[in-house]
Amino acid sequence: MPLPRILASAATTALRTAIPTTRSLGPTVLFTQRHQTLRHCSSGNMATAQRREQPPWTRPESSAPLPPLSIYNTLTRQKDPFVPLDKSGKKVTWYCCGPTVYDAAHLGHARNYVTTDIVRRIMRDYFGFNITFVQNVTDVDDKIILRARQQHLFEEYKAANPKITPEVLSATEKAWTAYFTKIAKADEGDLTTVPSTFEAWATRKHEPLMALIHKELAGESVEGELLDEDASKLKMHLNTLFMASKALQTPPTSAEEFYGTCSSVLLPYIDSLNKDRTYEPAVFSKLSRYWENHFNEDMATLNVLPPTTVTRVSEFIPENVAFVQKLVDRGYAYPTADGSVYFDIAAYEAAGHHYAKLQPWNRGDQSLIADGEGALTSDKASTLPTSDSSLPAKKKADQDFALWKASKAGEPSWESPWGQGRPGWHIECSVMCSEVLGGEIDIHSGGIDLAFPHHDNEIAQSEAYWDGCASHATADGRHQWINYFLHMGHLKIHGSKMSKSLKNFVSVRKALERGGGWTPRMLRIVFLQGGWKDGIEVREGVLSAAKSWETAVNKFFTNVKALVTEETAAQAAGTHIPQPWTKLEADLSKELDSTREKLDAALCDSFNTPLAMQLLVDLISTTNIYMSSTTNLALVKEIARWITRITTIFGLDNNSSPDRIGWTSEESSTGNAEEIAMPYLRLLSSFRDSVRALGISDSKSDSAKELLRLCDKLRDIDLADLGVSLDDRDSANALIKFVPAEELRAAREEKERKAAEREQKKEEARLKREEEERKKQEQAKVDPVTMFRTEEWSEWDEQGIPTKDKEGEEITKSRKKALTKAWEQQKKKFEAYQKTVQK
Ligand SMILES: [Zn+2]
Repeated sequence: MPLPRILASAATTALRTAIPTTRSLGPTVLFTQRHQTLRHCSSGNMATAQRREQPPWTRPESSAPLPPLSIYNTLTRQKDPFVPLDKSGKKVTWYCCGPTVYDAAHLGHARNYVTTDIVRRIMRDYFGFNITFVQNVTDVDDKIILRARQQHLFEEYKAANPKITPEVLSATEKAWTAYFTKIAKADEGDLTTVPSTFEAWATRKHEPLMALIHKELAGESVEGELLDEDASKLKMHLNTLFMASKALQTPPTSAEEFYGTCSSVLLPYIDSLNKDRTYEPAVFSKLSRYWENHFNEDMATLNVLPPTTVTRVSEFIPENVAFVQKLVDRGYAYPTADGSVYFDIAAYEAAGHHYAKLQPWNRGDQSLIADGEGALTSDKASTLPTSDSSLPAKKKADQDFALWKASKAGEPSWESPWGQGRPGWHIECSVMCSEVLGGEIDIHSGGIDLAFPHHDNEIAQSEAYWDGCASHATADGRHQWINYFLHMGHLKIHGSKMSKSLKNFVSVRKALERGGGWTPRMLRIVFLQGGWKDGIEVREGVLSAAKSWETAVNKFFTNVKALVTEETAAQAAGTHIPQPWTKLEADLSKELDSTREKLDAALCDSFNTPLAMQLLVDLISTTNIYMSSTTNLALVKEIARWITRITTIFGLDNNSSPDRIGWTSEESSTGNAEEIAMPYLRLLSSFRDSVRALGISDSKSDSAKELLRLCDKLRDIDLADLGVSLDDRDSANALIKFVPAEELRAAREEKERKAAEREQKKEEARLKREEEERKKQEQAKVDPVTMFRTEEWSEWDEQGIPTKDKEGEEITKSRKKALTKAWEQQKKKFEAYQKTVQK
């Protein structure tokens, strides 16, 4: 992947320098240090420093024997010893925030779910915990509602208008103007612009972005051009308007093509014409089901274990209503006049609870809060008819968040004591987690961007709901819902996180399809080589580091497997295999023990997979050195088995699932394809060895040459295409290896390329020789008597050797000597030539 280049719009640059928290702290403070610095900020226009400290965390206790595992806990921002609530210390409850299903999963999602899977597999398969893993699917959400409704209306419109009529063109022009007005307003543009003048306007105002758009249209690669948030959004809008303006000026003959080009301007416009429509629930569920399946397929491709239980919010509506009702009853929530319900942060804190336990320094950040509330919330709800004038018209405080949203026309809704509505985003996790796992949970996880407000709001709702039900005393006397909060680091591209709203995302499928070395295993190796809670930067170096790790492990497995197969065959043939135990073996054994200890310590240290990955390749190098000096495989096999076990725990083997159901039949041939093929391959290979030996012993004869050619073809083409490699050896049978066919083909092509290169060089040399020969012959045709008859000289003797130069000067003796020598040489050549002519 080429290194992406960031193209920032002027707007974003201005925005960046205007971030008040960084600017007020002076230019030396880095953005990433923001929260730490704020915690020590004593006064000013912020809330008091005390409110920004994380509250005390209560450490769970247990008398059960536990591994010395510590986990970095966002609730304390340090590594805490892991103690499950279960008395036996075996059972672990875990809730993970799942996807909002309205679009394709991108690499940022892959980062989150694959990394979560790595941690989950280590806890389950290395530490041996029995994990109940619950993950939700957000299938009721503002983004889903908008996307589904607009798509539905557009399909309807296309069916009613199968041809591009003047009416359709006129409607599209209106849609175009509405879209342009929205964009240009934000851009302080010239609102008299129409489709025919758009290109001139856009080129004047946004030259670099338009240049990029033209480049894309011309089919040139812009993969390296990476835009920041504002620039990429603007580029998307300009592109939409540009393409639609062209379609409006010269409508394509196909209606399908016209609608395809203009869909982005038509979607919001048609939606705005249908304000008071109501829809069947299927309109919304069709979209979310499609993307949920799509997500599950991607996760299976990435070898992510499925959750124990998936909870969909659409299947937990009554539970959501009951949960919200209890919060209202307890005085922690209040309905507003429009039929929405909000969480009352002031009441919650007045009761002795701490709000925003995870990121107290972010409370009050309106952009984060607005993002969590969704595009269809805001104060628009207050325009609904009020049912009770004694209720507040809108939420009491900016920081309060929606638990239940009154649904407007065109939005899905369910019955509730407050009228038709739907659950807010944060409440669903509290409800479904509580339903399945109860009021005290060991682990909750999600991407780091969910920490505030989503997770902080989940904690507030749940601790308000469950308060008084705790089985343990806590530091602040209030309920502690989650003991360990784990947040996965982001995938970053040049410092900005990859996300849908940033439009810098690459879908999981696209990334895997376009090759360039990205495979599910390669992605997982990249994530394992980075810490789970740290951000990962997509750079070329990251991929090559992962590739070299994979190659080292692959080579090791392939070699050991080939040698073991050979040894097994020898054993079966009655050969006695010696197993010496010398200093070599003692040293290697010590190395294995110490690597095991270090890897255990690394995994206990909050799943330090980068160190674990390094330890594995270090052990492989040591073992490779050992293998170069002995044929003893006993310890090598032990090491290979252990490395296989650890890489399988890390989820690096997509095909050896520890999660399959059932066992294979006793009668059926057991083992994998390699084991089944091996006896036949061995037979074929040993037959080839004999034929080849025969060919070599009589390499002059034509039939022997033909035999050797057939042996090469079997090795280089037929078996290579089947994923089998034969390494010919001087003093032994060929070593049989299973290597991916693509790899062998690539090696063959490389070999052929080199051979062709050699052949070409040879041919060039031959042509050069021929040319020299031809020149020599031409030269030989010259009679020595005439050879010096040129303007360079003025007098010659009878043999044609010059005596005076062109100025009439006598030539020197030495010169004369040299000329005579050349004359004699030419005479010899000439005579030889004459002889061949006479023949
Ligand atoms: Zn959640």
